[in-house]
Amino acid sequence: MSIAFYNTLTRTIDEFKPLNDGEVRMYCCGPTVYDYFHIGNARSFVMSDVIRRYFEFRGYRVRYVMNITDIDDKIIRRANEQGVPSSEIANTYAEAFLQDSTRFGIRPADLYPRATETIDDIISHIEGLIEKGAAYVVDGDVFFRVSSFPEYGKLSRKKVEDLEMGARVETDARKEHPVDFALWKSAKPGEPSWDSPWGKGRPGWHIECSVMSQKHLGETFDIHAGGNDLIFPHHENEIAQSEALTGHPFARYWIHFGFLNIDNEKMSKSLGNFFTAREIVEKYPAEVIRFYYLQTHYRSPLNFTQEGLEAARTGLQKLQGVYDALAEATKGDAGFDVHTFEQRFTAAMDDDFNTPAGFGVLFEMVREANAILHGPTGMDAPSRERLRDFLHRSCVQVFGVIREESAVEASDEIVDGLMQLLIDIRTEARKEKQWALSDHIRDGLKEIGIALEDTRDGTKWKITSE
Ligand code: AMP
Ligand code: ZN
Repeated sequence: MSIAFYNTLTRTIDEFKPLNDGEVRMYCCGPTVYDYFHIGNARSFVMSDVIRRYFEFRGYRVRYVMNITDIDDKIIRRANEQGVPSSEIANTYAEAFLQDSTRFGIRPADLYPRATETIDDIISHIEGLIEKGAAYVVDGDVFFRVSSFPEYGKLSRKKVEDLEMGARVETDARKEHPVDFALWKSAKPGEPSWDSPWGKGRPGWHIECSVMSQKHLGETFDIHAGGNDLIFPHHENEIAQSEALTGHPFARYWIHFGFLNIDNEKMSKSLGNFFTAREIVEKYPAEVIRFYYLQTHYRSPLNFTQEGLEAARTGLQKLQGVYDALAEATKGDAGFDVHTFEQRFTAAMDDDFNTPAGFGVLFEMVREANAILHGPTGMDAPSRERLRDFLHRSCVQVFGVIREESAVEASDEIVDGLMQLLIDIRTEARKEKQWALSDHIRDGLKEIGIALEDTRDGTKWKITSE
């Protein structure tokens, strides 16, 4: 069995055959760093992270690159609003992106190339395109000549004639053709710029990704991923710019993630339903959010709701619970067939990374395992070990939805309840003059930083140190 998944380029489920045996070269479009990233971006980043990890689960070595777009109109606008250099905005939010990715349990990419560190390569790429007749210069701007690339539209399945109709309205009169797009933008006052053979300027967004992906993964690489808003024009243009220069296929498989909406509406600041990843991860453990995302297939839209997140929290406790119970169980006789479940899990995931079906298998397994673990016979040690190992590889390593250590955190309610219980036992002990026991409780609590105070209204407790 091998992995097969939906390839936007062919519009079919294609069997994955890597360029180099046992290796996956994968690029995912990263953030434009002008603000904190939101829970929609987070969905794309988490899904890409899980696909990368699933390839590893299946024995591949993965080279995973994610760019950081650190020069762009939005960054420049934000910098001008705040009266700071655009590099300051970019650095602040690039740093925040890396921190928030870690909070989301997203494994760091092998490389995070930045557009501003790739300017020389971008310039040489554009020079190559001009030499080949695939690009032209007008007053310090460079445009890609779409008519030089007959396959234009093959990813998005758009026809140049149709695009032309739409583009004509706001077209730049200096372009040969309305669909041509900018590779290099000449410097405007107040904008950061770099020297180039065409004068001072900065690269267009699409060319950055073409150059950064090829620089680090080769002219032809395996997988290019991103949110489905990027199919056109971003990814279409990436293909044109890359293949027009090299004459070779660019990315072989294209993966696109469905969008996240909130309460069935598009998330937007003006509608007041906009959440940063940072806000959500303060309220919910990353594992719960990841599990919530993964319950929907990566290509489907995801309707984000608070209730959905709460339900994910409850569901996840079952997985975490059995994982913790396995670490604690010490005896038992009954065997448990983990292997069959692992095969079914793998079949589900091999079929277009079907995470909801994968979880379906895991939950069925956990239900059966629980019945044995907590039943009269208990589960034998080899089965317990195999089960824990499989849960570790699937739920810790691939999905990042359960934690190594117990995730059970004592809520305030539980702590209050436990403290009241101890206080009642101590009061009881004192009534019966069992001084040793009552002292034991008081001293023991003192040692962990909790002081008891006997007042007229009963015994109170307080935390004296963290
Ligand atoms: P950006 O910083 O806007 O370039 O977006 C970074 C990544 O997040 C890209 O792959 C986008 O396609 C993706 N993305 C943006 N908005 C959403 C959304 N609402 N749901 C899912 N993915 C998104
Ligand atoms: Zn990109």
